[in-house]
Amino acid sequence: MKRTLSVLGSSGSIGRQTLKVAEACGHDVAAITVNRSVELAEDQVRRFRPRLAVAADEEAAAALRIRLADTGVKVLSGREGLLEAAALPEADTVVAAIVGVAGLLPTLTAIDCGKRVALANKETLVCAGELVMARAGERGAEIVPVDSEHSAIFQCLQGCQSRGEVRRLIITASGGPFYGKSCKELSLVKKEQALRHPNWSMGAKITIDSATLMNKGLEFIEAMRLYSMPPERIQIVVHRESIVHSLVEFADGAILAQLGSADMCLPIQYALTWPERTPGPAKPLDLLSCPPLTFQAPDTETFRCLRLALECADRGGTSTAVLNGANEAAVALFLEDKISFLDIARLVEAALDRVPVKDNPGLNDIFEADRAAREAVYQSVR
Ligand code: NDP
Ligand code: MG
Repeated sequence: MKRTLSVLGSSGSIGRQTLKVAEACGHDVAAITVNRSVELAEDQVRRFRPRLAVAADEEAAAALRIRLADTGVKVLSGREGLLEAAALPEADTVVAAIVGVAGLLPTLTAIDCGKRVALANKETLVCAGELVMARAGERGAEIVPVDSEHSAIFQCLQGCQSRGEVRRLIITASGGPFYGKSCKELSLVKKEQALRHPNWSMGAKITIDSATLMNKGLEFIEAMRLYSMPPERIQIVVHRESIVHSLVEFADGAILAQLGSADMCLPIQYALTWPERTPGPAKPLDLLSCPPLTFQAPDTETFRCLRLALECADRGGTSTAVLNGANEAAVALFLEDKISFLDIARLVEAALDRVPVKDNPGLNDIFEADRAAREAVYQSVR
């Protein structure tokens, strides 16, 4: 089925791969949004001819307006621009690929408009998953995951009649670039090493999250929210080869898995075409040239971020928004060379100790928890 897309975060890793899928599979693009990547936004507009282009940053939007003056394409800025792209009437599908909690309001807007949401932005579900899923249920909006693990689970669940048939979700983790390292070794790692993921090429924030294993913690919470699963029915296994993208164990003991090459085009494409499958640009997997598949328990002692995330998954309420906000702030500081690798977990833990948790939060409580968590991080480094 041909879709008309609004691609939020079109200049990012997921956004660019979404446009590659759109081009290969013949989907239309009605809107693109970036934060500051003006040059790339101009290229994308000239290539895909959307009706709307948004740069969240005001100065960037002014520059983009000048660059696109000859095209007649509407250029907007700020939060209003992002929300207009999320609600654009001609788009039936919104690809939510902004990084961080900045993606929450646009995603909610797309849900309110009853769009299919191809959801890459995991922070949205980590901060406000219960609220987002409830809203999607009320508005009849389909949320189809893009994150490879959650797409794998979604694929394994096709044909499953009731949630009672599911015993466990099993999420695979590559282990990241620092697999097997000790705390002492981790205290010495540099940004450049953390940015070098062994199996996946992704944006900077998620690449650091993959190195601390916070990414797997965020994905654990994402899976709880997407599939209404209690934490005791989700397991994380380290699978260094990144070939099995995740698994579902059913009541009769059968385990189904989804396998593929480490190429996000496939989960992106499936989120657009589900329940159909079509040919696309994803790299095929040759089983005969695969290494042996291995599975191990994760090391939550050394990788404290994962432990903290699992504790928040149990605690619930605004704790997951505090976890996420503190992590976003700490990762940004690490990328600016202002703190060390191990400081990320230390600062997240300090924020979790400091910011009180509220149960059954509304949207304002979630934004307040996010703000307070960031503030706690900045105070700890001052
Ligand atoms: P990137 O950093 O590569 O891209 C982020 C995108 O969001 C860019 O288009 C960026 O614009 C835009 N953006 C950043 N900040 C803002 C803001 N404040 N307001 C509006 N737009 C903003 O990230 P990824 O593509 O790697 O990841 C996107 C999301 O998908 C994340 O939530 C990530 O966890 C998730 N994800 C990513 C995977 C991957 O393989 N990359 C896999 C699974 C999930 P600009 O270029 O102008 O800065
Ligand atoms: Mg993932």
